[in-house]
Amino acid sequence: MPRYDAIIVGAGPAGSTCAYRLASAGASVLLLDRARFPRDKPCGGGVTGRAARLLPFQLDSVVEDVVTSVRMRLRFGSWVERGSGEPLVLMTQRVRLDAYLAERAAAAGADFRDGAKVEAVKAGPEGVEVTAGGERLQAAALVGADGVNGVCARTLALGGNQAVGVALEGNVPYERLGADGYRGCAVLELGLVPGGYGWVFPKADHANVGIGGWEREGPHLREHLRTLCAAYGISPDDLESLRGYRLPLRSPRSTLARGRTAIVGDAAGLVDPISGDGMYEAFLSGQLASEAVVDLLDGRAASLEPYGERLSGLLGTHLWASWGVKAALDRFPRTTFRLARSRIVWRTVEKLVRGEIEDVRGARGLARPPLKALAALARVAGDPGGAYRQA
Ligand SMILES: Cc1cc2nc3c(=O)[nH]c(=O)nc-3n(C[C@H](O)[C@H](O)[C@H](O)COP(=O)(O)OP(=O)(O)OC[C@H]3O[C@@H](n4cnc5c(N)ncnc54)[C@H](O)[C@@H]3O)c2cc1C
Repeated sequence: MPRYDAIIVGAGPAGSTCAYRLASAGASVLLLDRARFPRDKPCGGGVTGRAARLLPFQLDSVVEDVVTSVRMRLRFGSWVERGSGEPLVLMTQRVRLDAYLAERAAAAGADFRDGAKVEAVKAGPEGVEVTAGGERLQAAALVGADGVNGVCARTLALGGNQAVGVALEGNVPYERLGADGYRGCAVLELGLVPGGYGWVFPKADHANVGIGGWEREGPHLREHLRTLCAAYGISPDDLESLRGYRLPLRSPRSTLARGRTAIVGDAAGLVDPISGDGMYEAFLSGQLASEAVVDLLDGRAASLEPYGERLSGLLGTHLWASWGVKAALDRFPRTTFRLARSRIVWRTVEKLVRGEIEDVRGARGLARPPLKALAALARVAGDPGGAYRQA
């Protein structure tokens, strides 16, 4: 039976970057994905500056636009535009990004097999065993990067979500929009849907239009998307490749690693509560899991468990703040929006999005009083992320 140092299940952003790092470190890596590549994934395709700066290579060949400003409003009120002209988010399409990341992993030496659905995983004290397409494969360690509906977390009794969101998105060619005035700008429509927002993101020859919210909003998302489209003069019939998907929000007490197994990215529920972004978390967890696997292989650690503690430590404050702003926006939309859109707070948001500061603890000077006011609103709204402060 073939035996590897590590098997990675799932070749999305978390799995492919984890495989790239492990293969670059000299490990023998098998990267499995059930889909045939290139494959698409429902996603806005926005790679924030803080996500991009985690990568050990550039994404230039798959970037279609660079967002330098954000236009936002609350419930179709008046527009506020913010941005300093510096890049905030790289806009790509997942069909291109994910193929590129998997190619990088393969070029680094990972054995990448697409069209290989993992049917079963087993973990023991000496190693792991995976069955894919009827073939049994072994490794010293397993990383489950198989997304929100994957098999690894479920089978290995890892993970667990505090909540789940849903989002629906599609593409509209610029010629049908009647303008390409969206270039370089991300449009955010807040307060339309409980627990989420609507967006228009610029791509090379089209805009991506979408809406997300709490899972219970699922049955109403098409209706919400129609409302959003109407506000932009878009006929819902012009939306191409319309598709929806789930957004998992991790419970602070969930276990991310046990023995020789770990889960990363959406499989671990690592989506950011306020933005719905998950690629930063996918890259970060992929990196930390790869380091834990190398420590295990080199005999510096007895298990992958230190990975879970490191990740929780790094993301804790950000998740607490993100949950807080989400709860405050749901409960007190006007006051929260007024505070969040202020130029002083926005400067901190930009630094966060670019990755110049790790979390709100990096905010300085005049930004601190409005951020404290936001924290107070979050407490009144129930402080749903409170547990992350200790986690
Ligand atoms: C509508 C929408 C918009 C979003 N917009 C953004 C955005 O603009 N920016 C951002 O940062 N995030 C965004 N997100 C979140 C982002 O898409 C996810 O967080 C990200 O895809 C997580 O990456 P991943 O590698 O963990 O999982 P995935 O990208 O889901 O990859 C998992 C992989 O595992 C494979 N797999 C599953 N089961 C098996 C199996 N049994 N065997 C083998 N392979 C398997 C799948 O085929 C898939 O390729 C959005 C999400 C949604 C739903």
